[in-house]
Amino acid sequence: MSEDRIAPLVTDLNRHFWTGGAEGLLQFLRCVNCGLYLHPPRPVCRACLSEKVEVAAVSGRGHVLTYTVNRHPWRPGVEVPYVVALVELVEQQGLRLTTNLVGCAPEDIEISMPVYVDFERTGEVFVPVFRPDASGRSI
Ligand SMILES: [Zn+2]
Repeated sequence: MSEDRIAPLVTDLNRHFWTGGAEGLLQFLRCVNCGLYLHPPRPVCRACLSEKVEVAAVSGRGHVLTYTVNRHPWRPGVEVPYVVALVELVEQQGLRLTTNLVGCAPEDIEISMPVYVDFERTGEVFVPVFRPDASGRSI
């Protein structure tokens, strides 16, 4: 479904997130003071109110918190079914992305299933999607 995605609006605040995939990196803003990852990106830490934030890459590993299977063709050209999932990254409880699971049949998905990031390019944007992590690594 990558060629039919609607590209998000890239801004100075989210550019690292949408373009990090060009180098295979899933990147978030992170507070320099307390280490909290901030997503959606914001210029001030919500925990300690520090304005010192930096771009930091994560491992790309996570697990499925929940998901749904879309079987309705909402837009022409978008292949169905596709899976919309909430994935939590291993780096921080609550660091979650609403994303697509790819590379697996919907009936093979399980809650808590380990996944890792991949990217689907739409123009200059690299949209993070997730695939089953078949490496056997535990989370
Ligand atoms: Zn902080």
